[in-house]
Amino acid sequence: MVLAVGFGGAWLARDPAPAAPGAVATAAAAVDAEGGLRRRLVLASLGDLLPALRANGIAPDDAAAIEAAARPGLPATGELRAAMVLTNGDGPVRLLRLEVSNPDSSGIVLTRGAGGAYALSKVAAQLSTRVVVRRGRLDGKSFYSSAVAVGITDSLIPGFARALAFDFDFQREIGPGDAFEAAFEQRVNADGEPVGPPDLLYAALTTSAKSVAVYRFAPPGEAADWFDSSGRSIIRALMRTPVDGARVSSGFGMREHPVLGFQKLHRGTDFAAPTGTPIFAAGSGVIEFAAPKGANGNFVRLRHDNGWETLYLHMNAFAPGLAAGQRVVQGQAIGEVGTTGRSTGPHLHYEVHIDGAPVDPQSIVTEQGKTLSGPALVAFEATRDRIDVARAMQAK
Ligand SMILES: [Zn+2]
Repeated sequence: MVLAVGFGGAWLARDPAPAAPGAVATAAAAVDAEGGLRRRLVLASLGDLLPALRANGIAPDDAAAIEAAARPGLPATGELRAAMVLTNGDGPVRLLRLEVSNPDSSGIVLTRGAGGAYALSKVAAQLSTRVVVRRGRLDGKSFYSSAVAVGITDSLIPGFARALAFDFDFQREIGPGDAFEAAFEQRVNADGEPVGPPDLLYAALTTSAKSVAVYRFAPPGEAADWFDSSGRSIIRALMRTPVDGARVSSGFGMREHPVLGFQKLHRGTDFAAPTGTPIFAAGSGVIEFAAPKGANGNFVRLRHDNGWETLYLHMNAFAPGLAAGQRVVQGQAIGEVGTTGRSTGPHLHYEVHIDGAPVDPQSIVTEQGKTLSGPALVAFEATRDRIDVARAMQAK
């Protein structure tokens, strides 16, 4: 049944990546106000400038002089936009003006003076920030395709899922027709084109059972976190699903052991996911053990600040540099799903121990996070209101 797949198993499955944008120069010519011929070009890098000048009919010596004059104001690598204004008449082609800009709209303007020398002036970056709101409903295929279809950038999707992972069991509580909304901040250049990756500010999900909305906010002196509209942190002691894109393949309790064949207490939850899927620290804490260990395979034991422990078995690999004694924060990747040790296929076997004894990870009621107060609450409310204004202005 389609609904039985996990949020990342299929809901987060990606469509094939679009082809990389071509960096081939495109030329369109128009006669400008002063009678010059204006051509626009896209340069894969600064190295393409000289050939582009030559291709537009500028003499070799002149092209080299223009390139030498422009070079100090531009980066050696990275795509550039250029516009050149050329003489439009008989005789040798001359450059009257050259504008070259970076994606953030910074760049140079080169003009030809009366004596034939080129004068360079620099243009500062012109970036502004825009809050973009996108809404949609889950289709029958995947959250990824539903989100991308309404303009949510794919890089935002794992963060969206993680922000709501405390409130929803993405395997059992999400399905086609459920409504989602995301607000994110995007820097744009002078032409309104996105520059750099967007930052998720707001995530909301409405199912037939409940509706949850969370706002990202960094309390003074602290890292950014997610809060509900009243300023209460949504972070619980432990995440419900410490792996991206998983379905529960075996729950806690007595069962026939798949390898050993007799009745045995299954001490945790198995999450089936492809090899290489990231595994997250379910809560902040200190790594007690991170090494291969017999039937456990590659194994991490994490001790949390409240004394609880979480255990992660059969990992394919540990996160680079992970070692006992190291502190990790909730949601930090500690390794990836595998099938090392006594295991029948790629999965995460996950245990939660309270006072040294295993408990059902899916049944524990974990404590509520902190609530903002004082100046932090005032600052949060300003952030929340800014997001809500953008949401109201971009309402359907
Ligand atoms: Zn297991």
